[in-house]
Amino acid sequence: MSALPGKRFQRTREDFHCLHCGTFVSGDGFTNHCPRCLYSRHVDVRPGDRAADCGAPMPPVRARRDGKKGFMILHRCEACGHEKWNRMSDDDDLDELAGLL
Ligand SMILES: [Zn+2]
Ligand SMILES: [Zn+2]
Repeated sequence: MSALPGKRFQRTREDFHCLHCGTFVSGDGFTNHCPRCLYSRHVDVRPGDRAADCGAPMPPVRARRDGKKGFMILHRCEACGHEKWNRMSDDDDLDELAGLL
């Protein structure tokens, strides 16, 4: 647990394999979860900063409608319990999403 000296400011745009189901996710700088099983990963302290040391899988635990703009998905970190609401993306599996409502 130390501060992060020399932390670089950078836009993160990365591809990754889902920790849960192995689906390849092509990162667009916004997508932070798997479109198939909706798992995320604990990498951000603030959105997009990738400053968390945790790195554990974050299963989706709940979803809610967010006005006209679609749905939000609540992810909770398996390791540390950190919770974060994320906006769903257009590619997300709607059956998985419906199961969280
Ligand atoms: Zn997945
Ligand atoms: Zn965590």
